[in-house]
Amino acid sequence: MTKHIFSVLLLIFFVATSMAQTTSENPNANQYIYWGYPAEYKLNQAAAAFGAIDNMLQTYLPGKEIPAPRELALVSLDQLLHDTDNDATEPFYNFINKRMLRVLQDLDNPVTKGLRIYKLYNDGFIIKSNKATVAIDLIPGGSDSKPFIKDSIIYGIVGKCDALFISHWHPDHANLNVAKAFAANGKRVIAPKDLWVGVDPLIQPLAEHVETDIEFEDLDLTLHVLPGHQDNVYNNINVVEFHGIGTVAQTGDQWYCCDMDWIDHVHERYEIDVLMPNCWIHDFERHLRGFAPKMLITGHENELGEHSIDHREAYWITMKKMELLSHLHIPNVLMTWGEWYDYQR
Ligand SMILES: [Zn+2]
Ligand SMILES: [Zn+2]
Repeated sequence: MTKHIFSVLLLIFFVATSMAQTTSENPNANQYIYWGYPAEYKLNQAAAAFGAIDNMLQTYLPGKEIPAPRELALVSLDQLLHDTDNDATEPFYNFINKRMLRVLQDLDNPVTKGLRIYKLYNDGFIIKSNKATVAIDLIPGGSDSKPFIKDSIIYGIVGKCDALFISHWHPDHANLNVAKAFAANGKRVIAPKDLWVGVDPLIQPLAEHVETDIEFEDLDLTLHVLPGHQDNVYNNINVVEFHGIGTVAQTGDQWYCCDMDWIDHVHERYEIDVLMPNCWIHDFERHLRGFAPKMLITGHENELGEHSIDHREAYWITMKKMELLSHLHIPNVLMTWGEWYDYQR
């Protein structure tokens, strides 16, 4: 048995070293000649494509209409992010960290009117008013040992936020280290029932999974938690009311279960300015009629998690879904990670 394990380890060693040699032995790499080195070719092609996409997105910024060059950039991003060869590669890490660094830097700029809404990986959002900066479902992504977003950037972002709201426990939405960092900074974390119970007095799971209003007087906002579900998982729908400025709602991973009867009536009690739904939510039209928002910013596209690529949810699919819902006249500002949009009533 030991001998068997030893030979497997030896095999892994040889494969690993030969792979390493594949990229290091190319004598013509500095002339951009990759003949005989297809993996190295693909890696460099991805780096070129991510770079060009980033430039294009910085030129054609998010808006209620999507100009053709921006659409091409988003669809190209779909292609890169649905090619698993690009998962956990340097071109991907460079792309996402460059964009998250821009968020970190922009958070220093004051918002004087309305709300600035940032989109982050995976279903994460930061909403900033003149008095408050709140994060919803902020995570670093990837694994603990190799997160997508560098510690210096994600914890830099945490340091500029005043509160964190978590929809549900799934790791593409909730990260305990991030929550602890909020608490360590003296900031409150509102989590769903049963999540992180007793971890820290500032990490506050709901006592019951019922509609709950939580005041943040110092931030001049009220959090209204609506008791949604992803199947049988508690899923807080976080409705954040920035007093006198605007109300935004993020749906987490709302999915089936038993909530449609009250979701149909949300608009009778809340005036939702911006809804951030999970892009794959079931019965999109019924949810939009229930919340009746003035505009959308869809989230959760291109989750690079455990799903096979058919459930990574491309930007082009969101665009097609919006075409099907065009009769509702609710614009979707389609953004990728590290972009933001200024909303004013
Ligand atoms: Zn989930
Ligand atoms: Zn999710």
